[in-house]
Amino acid sequence: MKTNPERMCVICREKKDKADLFRIVEKDEEGKFTLDEKQTIQKRGQYVCKTHECINRLSKHKKIKVEIEDLLKMLNLLKKDSKDYLKILRAMKNSQELVFGINMIFDEIEKVHFIIIAEDISERNDKRITAKAKEKNIPYVHYGKKNELGDIFNKEEINVIAVKNKKVARGLIE
Ligand SMILES: [Zn+2]
Repeated sequence: MKTNPERMCVICREKKDKADLFRIVEKDEEGKFTLDEKQTIQKRGQYVCKTHECINRLSKHKKIKVEIEDLLKMLNLLKKDSKDYLKILRAMKNSQELVFGINMIFDEIEKVHFIIIAEDISERNDKRITAKAKEKNIPYVHYGKKNELGDIFNKEEINVIAVKNKKVARGLIE
């Protein structure tokens, strides 16, 4: 019987078939890692489960630092039917790429590339944000409830979250 090579997830330590794991390889000496999508890069690598949980934990890892674009790519590869922005945002929350709250977003509007607006936002606030987004040509979606967006940052409610990184924004829009 032919068995597929197994590798261990660096996060949960479970052994799995290589196909069920992402491979990340060391980019430089500073512990920065990048995704090796085809698992062919001839560099020292680590493996991570293709699950939201392990990628989430990887995003907070002290020693293994994966670029936010790569984390996002992994999450996008996981998604099956519809895009789950909440899970993606949760995995990104420790990066400096997100800003939330209407005033904060308006302050940093020149750096914003994508906006996620709560579905249950008040009509007045919705108009304020969408008008600004249209004026600045920033793509946006209505997604999740205020308490769900708030939950990401351990707040009661958040009306709106914006993404400041262009590549990340593109990954979310695609
Ligand atoms: Zn794992």
